[in-house]
Amino acid sequence: MFEINKLVRENVKRLTPYSCARDDYKGSSGVFLDANENPFGNLNRYPDPYQQKLKTAICRTRGVNEQSLFLGNGSDEIIDLCFRVFCDPGIAKAMIFPPTYGMYEVSASINDVEVIKVPLNNDFQIDIKEAESHFKDEKLKLIFICSPNNPTGNSMNQKDIEYVIQTFSGIVLLDEAYSDFSDEPSFIEKINKYPNLIVMQTFSKALGLAAVRIGIAISNPAIIQYFNRIKPPYNISTVNQEAALNKWTDRNVIKQQVGEIKKERERLTFELTGLNITDRVFPSDANFLLIKVKNANYIYNYLVNNKIIVRNRSALVDNCLRITVGTRNENDQLLNALKRITL
Ligand code: PMP
Repeated sequence: MFEINKLVRENVKRLTPYSCARDDYKGSSGVFLDANENPFGNLNRYPDPYQQKLKTAICRTRGVNEQSLFLGNGSDEIIDLCFRVFCDPGIAKAMIFPPTYGMYEVSASINDVEVIKVPLNNDFQIDIKEAESHFKDEKLKLIFICSPNNPTGNSMNQKDIEYVIQTFSGIVLLDEAYSDFSDEPSFIEKINKYPNLIVMQTFSKALGLAAVRIGIAISNPAIIQYFNRIKPPYNISTVNQEAALNKWTDRNVIKQQVGEIKKERERLTFELTGLNITDRVFPSDANFLLIKVKNANYIYNYLVNNKIIVRNRSALVDNCLRITVGTRNENDQLLNALKRITL
C-alpha cells in the first residue's frame, strides 16, 4: 500500500504554508487593499498563485482534474520541489540513469542528496537488474526516468518504466519533456493506477515557450498538495500565465510545428548519416539528434567558428554531439558547413 506520509519529510509535513493575500480572499472583484500593491498600472497586482485559468485549459486537454496538476517555474522548479518534499538533506538518496538530463544531479547536490547512478546499457535502456538491486535501500526516495531521454534522444522501454514504478516503493518522476515528438503514449493516464508516479512535461519544447518558464507535473493529488504547500506563492508571473494560456489554446500551430520538426528530424538523420564525418546517428524520439562523429571537439569548434552552435556531449557519450532540429534553413546551414569540413 502506498502511503504518501511515509515518504514526505517530517518538517514538510509539519510546516504551516505561507498564506498570501490571495489565499485569504479569492474573489476577483472588489477594492483590493490587502496585498500592499501599488494601486496604479496594469501589472500592479500579484498573479493568481494557483494559475486557475491556465490549469483549467490544461486539464481539459490532458483529461486530468485540477487536484492532479501542478505548474512550476519551469520543470527545473518541479525537480527541486521533489527533493525538498521527499529527500532529507544528508540522508536520502536519489537514482538517475546517466547519460541523462543534468539538472537531476545538480538539484540533488544543491539539496545535499546522494545520487545513485545506474548507467544506461549499450542500447541506452535502463539496466533493470542493477537498478532493482538498490530498491530495498530505505534511503532511496526518488528515481528520475527521462523518456525520451536527453541527450540520447531515445524513449525508454514502456515495460521497463512501468516495472520501475510498480516495483519501487518510493517516488518515480517520469520526465516527458520531449514526449510530443514521440509516438510512444504518455504515462499521464497511468497516474490513477500508480500513486507514486509523477509525470512531468514542459512548455519549453514542443510548445515553444522556453522563455516563459512553465513546467507541468501531473500526479496523485496527495503529492500535488505538498508541492502547493512549499512552492513560492507567486511562482508563475501573470505575463507568463497569459502567454502560456494563449499558446495552449492554439493547438493547431503547435501540431503543425511539431509535424515540421519531426519531418526535419528525419531529413537531418538521413543527411547526417551520409556524411563522412559521421560514425552514427542515434534514433531520436525528441527534437534533437545525438550523433557520434570522428572528432567531436574539432567539429564542435569548427561549427562554432562558422557561427553554428551545437552541444558537445563528448564528456557524457564518447565523441558525441547533440544537435537540436532547427528550421529547414538552419538545418541546411548546418549540413552545408559539415559538408565543407576536412578532417
Ligand atoms: N527535462 C529535460 C529532459 C530537459 O532536457 C529540460 C531542458 N533542457 C528540462 C527538463 C527543463 O525544462 P524547463 O525549461 O521546463 O525547466
